Parts: sequence; C-alpha cells; structure tokens
Amino acid sequence: MQCKIIAVILAITMILSLGFGCCVEKKEASESMPPIQKSIPVVDLHCDSLLEIVDKGRNLSIRSDRGHLDVPRMKEGGVEVQCFAVWISPIYYPNRSFERAEKITDAFEKFVKENRGVEQAFNSKNIAEINGQGKIAAILVIEGGSALEGKLSNLDYFYDLGVRYITLTWSYSNQIADGVYERFPKSRKSNQGLTEFGKEVIKKMNELGILIDVSHMSETSFWQVVNCSKQPVIASHSSVWELCNHKRNLKDGQIKAIAEKGGVIGINFCPSFLNESGKATLEDVVEHINYVVDLVGVDYVAIGSDFDGIDSTPAGLEDIVCFPALTQSLLEEGYSRNEVEKIMGENFLRVFKEVCG
Ligand SMILES: [Zn+2]
Repeated sequence: MQCKIIAVILAITMILSLGFGCCVEKKEASESMPPIQKSIPVVDLHCDSLLEIVDKGRNLSIRSDRGHLDVPRMKEGGVEVQCFAVWISPIYYPNRSFERAEKITDAFEKFVKENRGVEQAFNSKNIAEINGQGKIAAILVIEGGSALEGKLSNLDYFYDLGVRYITLTWSYSNQIADGVYERFPKSRKSNQGLTEFGKEVIKKMNELGILIDVSHMSETSFWQVVNCSKQPVIASHSSVWELCNHKRNLKDGQIKAIAEKGGVIGINFCPSFLNESGKATLEDVVEHINYVVDLVGVDYVAIGSDFDGIDSTPAGLEDIVCFPALTQSLLEEGYSRNEVEKIMGENFLRVFKEVCG
C-alpha cells in the first residue's frame, strides 16, 4: 500500500512494457528446475491481501486472475509462511482504527478457518508443525499502530488474537510516532519522532514478544525506536535508498543499525522503490538483495513482497507464483543453497523465534 499514486501514473507504461507476462517465461523456467531448487521454502514478510477480502470481496481460497496472491498461487510459489497485514488506512484515524482492525482480523480468522491449506501460526513451533503437515503458516500482523488508538491494553488484545508484529506507523504520523510523510495529525508538531506513548508501546511489545517493524517510519522515529527497543527490529517491506532514492527506502546507516540489532530487512517489490524510473524487473530485486548482503552480510535480508499492496510489480515477479524465479536468480548469482534459504526465509524465522518464541 505504498506507491499507488506513482504506480497509477506509470500503469499504462508498465502494461505496454511488460508485454505478455515475463513471469510466464520465468514460470516455464521454474518448471524445468531441479527439485532441490524448487523446494527452497519462501517466507514473505508482507502482503495486503486481507484488504482484497474485506474491500473487494475476493476469495483467497480459490485461484484468481485478480491481485497477486491466493492460496493455490502461494502453494505454486513455494510459500510456507505468509505474513498478512492488517493495514489501517488514514481515513480511519484516529477513532475508527481499532474498529477497522477488528473487521480485518475477523476476515483473517474466517479465511484461515475456512481454508484447510492454511493455519495461523503463533510461534516458531507452530510454524514447523503447520509446514510439517504440508500447510501454509499464516502470521497476523498490523500495519499501522493507529490500531491501538493510544491504549496499551489493546496490545494485549491484539497479542491474544495472534498479532506477532506491528508496523508502528504507516506513512503518516499516529499516537506512537511519525511516519515518512509526517502529515497527520496536522495539529502535532512534525518530525518529533517517537511519543511518550510510543516508548511505552515498545517496552510492552518487547515484554509480550511482538516484533517491532520500522517500515514506513520517519528517520527521526526510526533512530529513536532502534535506540529504545531491547530486541531486534525488522523493516518488513522496505528497499535500499542508495539504489533508489525513495522516502520509503532505508539508508545505509539504517540498514547497518537493523543488522547490528540482529533484525532483517524485507526487500519490497514496489517498482518505484526499486528503480527511480518507476519500472523494475526481478533483476532489480536481486540487486537490492545483493546491496544489503554486501553492506551487512547474508543474515539480515529477507523478502517483503507487498503483494496486493502495490499496483504494479517488477517484470518477472508479477505475482506470488514467480518466487521460484527469484530463487533461481539468486542461485545463478552465485549464492549457495544455504544462503538462498536464509534470504528467502530462514533469516526472518531466526528473528521471529528470538522475539516471538
Ligand atoms: Zn506498507
């Protein structure tokens, strides 16, 4: 849910430039891959597909030619763990955010209950058990701490529902901190970073075992959060500023700080985060991964596709069935199987185990 405006501007260009599905070629390539390559499991740190259910009435249990993700396509793409975001749009700020979050978490519960191929995971043991049964583990996460509506007790409520990480802000400011655009609420002084309530939220998230996600935060907020949290923090869906100067991307110092705390950066597939031209390919995603690896090592990078939250996708990564093509590209790039496993999922699972148990 990041780059709708730019994406709309570029949509026609993208359609023309993509032609008839680069992913089709990649998919055919993946079908001829040796089984060992196809079997590398994928953990995707961010999708907005719950909004597809709530706002568009799409049934994620059946294969669709709409959107980027559904259960049959997740299976085809080798996804073993998917984080489902409860995105709180600014139109629900400040007093209807909790109610909106409840509506989306209800939709998640119904989706998981009705789909035998998916089960909700609350901890690492759950993930292993669910994957062991051949099912996809679904992790519930909140994108936008406005959902708490300024009440610490709501953290307990969401923890009990199984929420295991919270993106503290979306792009606008809320009761916890400022977002990258720092425009809301208008009455508050801009660029003040983390609020007193925000500090209490971080302390309680550390105690409960809820991961802190810094994607969408302003730089001031970011540094205050990193200094405040006693546990690793993640950026679930952000890319690299040095390769593409977009406000949502992370500068080198931020990437290093996340790595030093033992967290991960999930590379976002939004084309305008990957390439300043606004058009991107699978190779751009690989380049962003390479950059993080070169800067801090192979243990701190992950995948946060943002599928169903972005209006356009990189050529070669049109939807979730294309993940094997990314795996293949990383292997061709010279990464060992073990390193690709880390990037595609194990790095995140390490952090998840450390913080959420
Ligand atoms: Zn987002």
